[in-house]
Amino acid sequence: MAIQSLLPPITIPETGLIEFLFKNTHNTPEDRKLFIDAFTGESLTYGKLKDNVLRFAATLQDKFNFKRGDVVAIYSPNQMDYSVPLLGTVAAGGAVSPANPAYTSTELAYQLEKTSAKILIAHETNVEMSLKSADMVGLSRSRVFVFGKNQVQGIAPWSQVFMGERRATLITLTAQEAKEAVAYLCFSSGTTGKSKGVMTTHTNITANVLQFEGLEGASVNGDKDRMLGVLPFFHIYGLSLLIHIAIYLGTPVYVMTKFDLVKFCETVQKEKITFSALVPPIILLLAKDPMVDNYNLSSLKVVICGAAPLSAELSQQTRKRLPATIVKQAYGLTETSPFASLERTDNVVDGSIGFLLSSMSIKIVGDDGVELPIGQRGELWLKGPNIMKGYINNPEATAECIDKEGFFHSGDIAIQDRDGRLYIVDRKKELIKYKGFQVPPAELEGVLFTSPMVADCAVICVYDASQATELPRGYVTLAANVPATEKTAETIKKFVADKVVYYKQLRSIVFIDEIPKSPSGKILRRVLRDAAAEEQASQ
Ligand code: AMP
Repeated sequence: MAIQSLLPPITIPETGLIEFLFKNTHNTPEDRKLFIDAFTGESLTYGKLKDNVLRFAATLQDKFNFKRGDVVAIYSPNQMDYSVPLLGTVAAGGAVSPANPAYTSTELAYQLEKTSAKILIAHETNVEMSLKSADMVGLSRSRVFVFGKNQVQGIAPWSQVFMGERRATLITLTAQEAKEAVAYLCFSSGTTGKSKGVMTTHTNITANVLQFEGLEGASVNGDKDRMLGVLPFFHIYGLSLLIHIAIYLGTPVYVMTKFDLVKFCETVQKEKITFSALVPPIILLLAKDPMVDNYNLSSLKVVICGAAPLSAELSQQTRKRLPATIVKQAYGLTETSPFASLERTDNVVDGSIGFLLSSMSIKIVGDDGVELPIGQRGELWLKGPNIMKGYINNPEATAECIDKEGFFHSGDIAIQDRDGRLYIVDRKKELIKYKGFQVPPAELEGVLFTSPMVADCAVICVYDASQATELPRGYVTLAANVPATEKTAETIKKFVADKVVYYKQLRSIVFIDEIPKSPSGKILRRVLRDAAAEEQASQ
């Protein structure tokens, strides 16, 4: 018997995402500045945002023969006007695949190819990389555009090309269409293998906005609150909270193009920021960096921490440093659009990920697939209106993680207590999280295998408390006649670093005679993780 959420259910919206956002449930004034660049002060009002979204959608339809289901990729750090091409694409009936701006050209090309993107919108600092990736997948350079107002290397800014006179008429979706139509294709490796495009539907997002509001609504108010937008918009956590939830509630977001602790503290103090969503390594800085004492951060009422585990100890340290701030956890995945649970603001239990959101049910399941009684640890399975439709063009991977009853198997190990609070206590799946970013071991193993020095390999994570993050570590069996030296380890690390985005780099390499495997040839990661934990404990 599945366990139901203790919160009252939401009424699932029967419209598409754009209609839902712009029907203005919370009476946001047209002239409210919704997105403000924390560095330059440039801003976009609610009214202008709506207008620009419809202009962008109209241009897609008029000039680019854009059809329902077509995909636009965005490859940029946070921008004040990121939401215009994002929501403009969705308003035209398309889907957006947001990519990490630090990706290498090969990583971006992989995403463009998997999503069959028709248009790419880049940032001025990565135009060259964009063109390289576009060439790799045969996307015409005339379909690459750039943020900002200026041409870069012959590439036109979208703000000139897409801001025509015509405004698109909103495509209205039926309830069934909203459940089917894909709005976003963020990438996640799920429980195993390489990154896959997660099909997030209109209803996944609209339901999740209401599920979030169901628990947090009382503490975030569009008229009084201000958020600091540090999380990257390309990840579903930032995308959802800082764009959809912020627009729905009408809460201004001070957008940071990149994280900078001084700017963070300055902005909180100057703009009296009340609410921010963060990841554990930033919480660590708030708790420990002496520089934080130079600022008055007392306006910050609530900080939500998600994307990776936050230890109870670090929560306590942060509370000592910021006594006016409630620091609490949220939990979710790209596949759950993203929020699945959230701690209450009025009674925070450190180390807990809080309560299951409205209209969701869970099972906590043992290795034999049988549901366990409350209080026992097992894999967390989740069901609800926010569970993704599946992985794009990958029905096998979808069937492996969503069962016939509709439960999504998260790969996380959880416990629920008698009050209904959830705790994540371990991870069963391969995934590594470096400062909240996904590092799929299978991808790094694929790269390692192309090194002539490597005969066999496995990648696991080790936890580094001093940075509040997991670090990817490679276990390598060397090819014949390759010496097991520090120099070899450095050469292999560099070999990988040259091919992947910075956060996927291997932080350490351990030589091993043989990679532990099951009789069927599956890497026994648990054996390596236990050995690494033992080694750390003995240091
Ligand atoms: P992503 O799809 O990138 O959001 O990654 C989802 C994964 O991040 C989850 O399956 C968890 O392993 C991890 N995660 C997210 N939030 C938390 C949290 N509050 N505590 C522990 N792990 C988390």
